Amino acid sequence: MITIIKKMIGGVPVPDKKELSEKAPVEFAGIPDELVLFMSHHIGAPAVPLVKPKDTVKRGQLIAEPQGLVSAALHAPTSGVVKAIEPRFHPVLACMSEAIVIEPDGKHEPVEGLAPKASDLDSLSAEQIRAIAREAGIVGLGGACFPTSAKITPPEDKHLDTYLLNGSECEPYLTADHRVMLEEAEKVIFGFKALMKASGVSRGIVCIEDNKPDAIEAMKQAMSGYDGLELAVLTTRYPRGGEKQLTQAVLGREVPPPPGLPYDVGVLVSNVGTAYALAEAILTGLPLVERVVTVTGEGVAKPSNFKALIGTPVSYLIEKAGGFAGTPGKVIMGGPMMGCALKSLDVPVLKGTTGILVLTKEQAVQEPILPCIKCGKCIDACPLGLQPLWISAYAERGFIEEAESFRAMDCMECGCCAYICPAKRPLVQLIKMAKAEISSRRKARR
Ligand code: SF4
Ligand code: SF4
Repeated sequence: MITIIKKMIGGVPVPDKKELSEKAPVEFAGIPDELVLFMSHHIGAPAVPLVKPKDTVKRGQLIAEPQGLVSAALHAPTSGVVKAIEPRFHPVLACMSEAIVIEPDGKHEPVEGLAPKASDLDSLSAEQIRAIAREAGIVGLGGACFPTSAKITPPEDKHLDTYLLNGSECEPYLTADHRVMLEEAEKVIFGFKALMKASGVSRGIVCIEDNKPDAIEAMKQAMSGYDGLELAVLTTRYPRGGEKQLTQAVLGREVPPPPGLPYDVGVLVSNVGTAYALAEAILTGLPLVERVVTVTGEGVAKPSNFKALIGTPVSYLIEKAGGFAGTPGKVIMGGPMMGCALKSLDVPVLKGTTGILVLTKEQAVQEPILPCIKCGKCIDACPLGLQPLWISAYAERGFIEEAESFRAMDCMECGCCAYICPAKRPLVQLIKMAKAEISSRRKARR
């Protein structure tokens, strides 16, 4: 069954710029001179190293073990020697964080015993699939990095009936998910069926925006041999791919405000890259040691989609994409709406790195910030029905309780309000500031 979905609350029609890299097939980026693997790749407890400096490691070898349910294992992406275990700058956490540094030997030698877990899903129980996801260190590859084994083990009091596979990839410029769906549709669907089986959900809906007709066709064909799968084609609008927005648009169910999650309304949502990673772990035995990363933007010579080893330096990937085109103005990890600007290129690809975007000097010029003209455009654009102008105004003046009462903590930092604001107000930065202050006050009260 195919459903065409047009409705959406808020959002903005952002130029998608996907034409820069959407036709570039995924190619292996190669093995850099150094890989940096953070213990805190993800939400939750950091993993604990199992290796020490000077140890030799092989591709796929477990090098750090998870701590608790919300934590993810870490594996060596290639063979080599552990050069150090030391703090390195984490580009998303924006602080120094413990990392295992590997010096590759160039042999790419797999660890002994790396073998397929199964060739079909009938031979695996739900519990076995959850164990594979946990042992393989799989996390949500859409950027959130929530451990997949935890996601597919929801609390017993939650009744789940639908699993959404998120192939929206609504962030402008990024094409990693698009290429994965196009080139690996069958594995993605296999992985999706594995996620469904592991979580005990029988209805699965593949959700794709209509700016990827070739991926829609590929996924439609790959789905044809399976029962219980439907396709939802959504009109292109940012931020379609937010899990709350997707749940609302496809199923008409409203996810409660944070800490509410889709499973509170019977739904699980996973990214297509996550499904692919799980399929790889089952069909080849390879844990999550590499991922597809888009390197794009008007500021790179040859926009590309790379299969990059986790831990590969951003500078290495930009070189692989032909280097800079002209003078770079800004390099962003992720997309232009929700990504984080990088101060240095000497940071690694993380499990949640969807892309590296290079903007030119002209594109990166900060327009003058003007006073709010109360036009209300930010309110219309907010997909959560918030009032960004008031939250940001209170935050700017230090009225944190008022910002909290205007639901600052519900903000998902999608950037729609700042994008649409004619006065170029730094709305998201101000809201983030309020959120940080509210969080620290809440912690102090505990
Ligand atoms: S869009 Fe900008 S100028 Fe308009 S009300 Fe919101 S903050 Fe003010
Ligand atoms: S950044 Fe926050 S306030 Fe602004 S549109 Fe997105 S959810 Fe709404």
